[in-house]
Amino acid sequence: MVYSKIIKRTTANLIFPLLFHSRSYLLSKPFYCGLGSILTFHRVCPGTPKPRIRGNAGLEVTPEYLENTIRFLSQNNYEIVSMTRASQILKTGNSCKKFAVFTFDDGYIDNYLYAYPVFKKYGIPFTVYVTTQLPDGEAILWWYLLEDLILKVERIEFEFNGRRYNYNCKTYYEKEWVYQEIHRLIISGSPENLNFRIQQIFKNFSNINFREKTSELALSWNQIREMSEDPLVEIGAHTIRHHVLNKLSEAAVLEEMEGSRDKIELKTSQQVEHFSYPFGTSREVGQREFRIAKKCGFKTSTTSSIGNIFPEHEGLLNKLPRIPINQKRDSGKVDYLKLWLNGLLPLCVNKLKRVV
Ligand SMILES: [Zn+2]
Repeated sequence: MVYSKIIKRTTANLIFPLLFHSRSYLLSKPFYCGLGSILTFHRVCPGTPKPRIRGNAGLEVTPEYLENTIRFLSQNNYEIVSMTRASQILKTGNSCKKFAVFTFDDGYIDNYLYAYPVFKKYGIPFTVYVTTQLPDGEAILWWYLLEDLILKVERIEFEFNGRRYNYNCKTYYEKEWVYQEIHRLIISGSPENLNFRIQQIFKNFSNINFREKTSELALSWNQIREMSEDPLVEIGAHTIRHHVLNKLSEAAVLEEMEGSRDKIELKTSQQVEHFSYPFGTSREVGQREFRIAKKCGFKTSTTSSIGNIFPEHEGLLNKLPRIPINQKRDSGKVDYLKLWLNGLLPLCVNKLKRVV
């Protein structure tokens, strides 16, 4: 698995400059840029010289990169709008400019500390989709605990579902590989047993405080409330526990969606009208989840399928694709967004299909 990732990364490092400098994105632009794009972010953090596990580091952009993205969109004649405004544009077709929406998944504290000041500076709207176990302090951010552990130790041993695992993780490549292997063990299996799987992995490292990372990285309810009172910010729901929804019963999916919405509404006294599916690719969500989100009454629901927004999405507001923003994937070059927003790379990813 890690080798396929290395191949993909190497291909991206070679292909992206070629596609960009040949201006091939101009070919796809008339057909695949659509009415606009919804951008997916997770975290905004100042850069660090510390070594990182790539999967986690890819979820972060620096405040400077965020600011450059805003400038890039303005220079390229985009109107930056809220999710509510984007849904109105889709319904009425009233917009002479292409639109872009900034969305943030999960509810990390850096959204408040580093992203919010940038959006306030430019008067730009954005949406934060909150998984309510984060501000509740109940989520276990195991992917960061695992990163910290693997970067610190040179060997990891544990017993998992009756089998012994023994990994060397001295070099950086070993650490990346071991991270991917253990990540796979944790996310496979039923959501109900997730905590048990995490406990098995970390059992030999008794000094790990599972909740400490959560209080370090999650937004607090006070910060969420403060942002929700700002007309620039829309708080959306992202379930209670961030489980893989297609592994849950229908009743449990409904509870995850409504439960997170009701809790945010209770804490902020604001209506929650937008939703984002955890993980959100076709591996984790499908027609059943789209139907349930619609039944819950969300105005829009966003997936992690990669694509721009077209007029046809007016009838598909419960499964809107997005463009993931990844500073590392794009080698820190904000101009590479042209490859995504003009539809060239979404076109390749989706095998020429426009609406995904
Ligand atoms: Zn998420």
